[in-house]
Formats: sequence, C-alpha cells, structure tokens
Amino acid sequence: MRLSRYFMPVLKETPAEAQIVSHRFMLRAGMIKQTAAGIYSWLPLGLKVLRNIENIVHEEQAKAGHIPILMSTLQPADLWRESGRYDDYGEEMLRVQDRHGRDMLYGPTNEEAVTDIFRSHVNSYKDLPLTLYQIQWKFRDEIRPRFGVMRGREFLMKDGYTFDLSKEDALHAYNRHLVSYLRSYERMGLKAIPMRADGGPIGGDYTHEFLVLADTGESEVFYDSEVTDLSFGDREVDFDNVAECEAVLQEFTSRYARTDETHDEDLFNSVPEERRRTARGIEVGQIFYFGTKYSESMGATVVNADQKQVPVHMGSHGIGVSRLLGAIIEASHDDKGIIWPEGVTPFHVGIVNLKQGDDEADAACEALYKAFQKAGLDPLYDDRKERAGGKFATMDLIGLPWRITVGPRGLKNGVVELTSRKTGESEEVTPEEAIARVI
Ligand code: ATP
Ligand code: MG
Ligand code: MG
Ligand code: MG
Repeated sequence: MRLSRYFMPVLKETPAEAQIVSHRFMLRAGMIKQTAAGIYSWLPLGLKVLRNIENIVHEEQAKAGHIPILMSTLQPADLWRESGRYDDYGEEMLRVQDRHGRDMLYGPTNEEAVTDIFRSHVNSYKDLPLTLYQIQWKFRDEIRPRFGVMRGREFLMKDGYTFDLSKEDALHAYNRHLVSYLRSYERMGLKAIPMRADGGPIGGDYTHEFLVLADTGESEVFYDSEVTDLSFGDREVDFDNVAECEAVLQEFTSRYARTDETHDEDLFNSVPEERRRTARGIEVGQIFYFGTKYSESMGATVVNADQKQVPVHMGSHGIGVSRLLGAIIEASHDDKGIIWPEGVTPFHVGIVNLKQGDDEADAACEALYKAFQKAGLDPLYDDRKERAGGKFATMDLIGLPWRITVGPRGLKNGVVELTSRKTGESEEVTPEEAIARVI
C-alpha cells in the first residue's frame, strides 16, 4: 500500500476521552472511529489487524477439527424463553421489536441459537462429536462501556459450541479448546494464562478464563509465578488424542492461577511465598463445560447406542476477538506507539522515502516495494511529500516490525537503513540485505 493513496487518518493530538494507552493509540493511528458509546467503526488499519486475528483463530480452529458457521445477529425472543434466559439476562440484552410487534434481541451470545440448529438436524449419537463455531458480532449493553474496544457494547467474538454424547467426550472437547486457544494467543504474540474461573449460576469446575497480564486489566488475578514460564511453542499435537490434550490441560492448569471470583486465600498461601503474585489481567477468552443445561431445556437429544433419547453434553468457548486488539497493544507498546507482534501486524514493513521526488530515492523505494510484494509480504510505502520527522513519528505510532529508510545520502554508498521497531536498533545494509532480513 502507498500511504499517499491509503486512508489512515492519524491524529496529532491525544484524544481526551481515551484513558488507557491502547485506546489512545488505536484512535491516534486511525484504526477505529467511535459511532456511539462502546460502538465503533473499523477503519482500514484497524480492520487489517482485526482480520489477521480472525485468520489465526480460524486456522487454529480448523486444526482442532472445529467447523465454522455464521449465525444471525438478531434472534427471536422465543428461543431464549425456552431456555429461561430471556428474563434472566437482564439489562445487558438489547431488546427490539419488529413491525409485527414480535420480540427480538441482538445476540449477546448464541447458546440458544446453536442448540436450535443442532436439534433441527442432529438425531443420532453417530453424528457426534460436533463442534460448531463462528466469529460474529455481539451486543451487550454494558453499563460502563470504556477503554475503546476492550469493553465495547458491540464487539466481535469467536464463540464455539461443543456437542458430545458423554461428559467424558465433552471434557475432551474442552481440552481441545484449551490447546487451540493456547496456540492462537501465542501466534498473536501474547501470553494468555488459563485461570480457574467462576461457573456462575450454572456452577461446575470446568471453566477457565484466559488472562493477559496488564496493569489496565479489569480483573484482579492471583497466581504462582511458575505459570508465566509456560509456553506451548511449536510442538505438534494430535487433537484426537484424549490423553495428549488432557496432558496439556494438566501442564497449564495444575499450578495456582485464579481470578478474584474463585480466589482461595488458604490455597494460595500454600504456594511458596516468593512465587505468589497478585496482578491485574484482561480476560481475552473463556472455555466452559456446562453439561445438559440447554440441551435439556430445549430438547436437544440424540439416540444413543441403546436406542434411548439422551440430552447432549455441551460446552461453549469464547475468544474476545475485538478486545484482543486492545490487549495486544496494552502488552506491546512504548511511549511512541504500538509495537505489533509479527503474527498480527497490519503491514510487515514500512518504507520511508526521505526525499520523495528524488529520482534515485524514488526508484530504490519502488524496487523495495515491488520486491516485498513479490515475496508475498504486505509493505507500507510512505511516499508522501512530508518531513522525515513526521514520517518517522507515524511509523513509530503504527508500530510495524521493520522500517526501511531510504535517502539519497545512503544510496550514494549503496545502503539503506533497516530499523527494528522492537529493539529500536538501526543498521546500514544494502537493499538486498534489507529484503532478506525482513522476509
Ligand atoms: P467480561 O468479564 O470482561 O465482562 P465476559 O465474561 O462477560 O467478559 P464472555 O461471556 O466470557 O465475556 O465472552 C467471551 C469473551 O468475549 C470474553 O472473554 C471477552 O474477551 C470478550 N468480551 C466480553 N464482553 C466484551 C465486551 N463488552 N467488549 C469486548 N469484548 C468482550
Ligand atoms: Mg461481561
Ligand atoms: Mg468475565
Ligand atoms: Mg467470561
């Protein structure tokens, strides 16, 4: 992309309404524009990162054998009356009526809708296990929308639903989700720690939230410092192998790590004192096995091997896709701007032309631009007639992993400057070396 032809409305001033760094940088970099409290439009740069995050989620869900669908955002109230949640859900649910006076709602989550799909089409245990998921907009009329996309009212969520014949199978599905989530967050450059969470009114021990440690997080968390040393890495995993997935669960959840809702002071005190940590965290996902709550109330049954009708065991598993942009920035920035992890960066490399209009500099930039495109990378070429200082400030703000600075003086010696956004280190290298290093 050539910056002169792009739409990236960078703000010079820090917007007064933004209280935390991720919100400030997302507004300043022209990634989002607020339409109403907690509701945002996604501008090109923000949309690119959002799509990158979605792609990682889709790829990892595919590896786990989970199947994408797309459910409607509007749902009939009657479905939620069946489960009993229409009255229970409260003020967070946005309720509307159509022209015939029928009660509708904008989905805050989709257990009812997906259970309705399941019961319409699946009748036999032979069709299990089944995991259906989507990445779709949700609406929750949060009492205090704030921090930009972190606590929006309209937000993008990945929500997956598992259907199994037995509790055992459902727990394997739970573990598959844990593994796929660990992989997804790591690919986004994040350390998200699974912590034991509260099952809420449904209860049960089988729920974990994934938290990214950050001072601006809304949850208070307590953990054994050893959990921060764990990483999934690039190990292979067979998602059909029950024992293998279970072993990952054990490895990542056996140490103390809890949110304030389930925190147990006595248990925590059994962690060696030098390893006890209290911090703040951002909830970027949650996995949940809840048994037959919805299948029983909504009649989602299958015929088992003994020809008996039995309700299926279900779980739901969510990732806060739009919230992740904020979480990633909270975890990776400096005072000049964002530092995108390679896995989600909107462009791979920025090319800064110090003297736009100079034949040699223009030609060198064009050659770099084309070479990156040919290699399948997405370069951003700042080809505007602007001061170098302004160009550098923009590049620092939008946080691409690499910057290549091209000017007549360097070109006389056959070099350009290659700068890493993360370390801030610059080197003079030939254009060919610069390309090789970035690719
Ligand atoms: P929170 O505790 O932050 O209100 P939640 O527990 O109500 O979140 P879930 O129902 O578990 O949310 O939804 C799955 C994921 O969706 C969450 O882990 C979170 O990352 C994301 N999410 C929830 N509410 C919002 C919101 N208002 N804005 C952006 N993302 C959200
Ligand atoms: Mg909530
Ligand atoms: Mg929560
Ligand atoms: Mg949650």
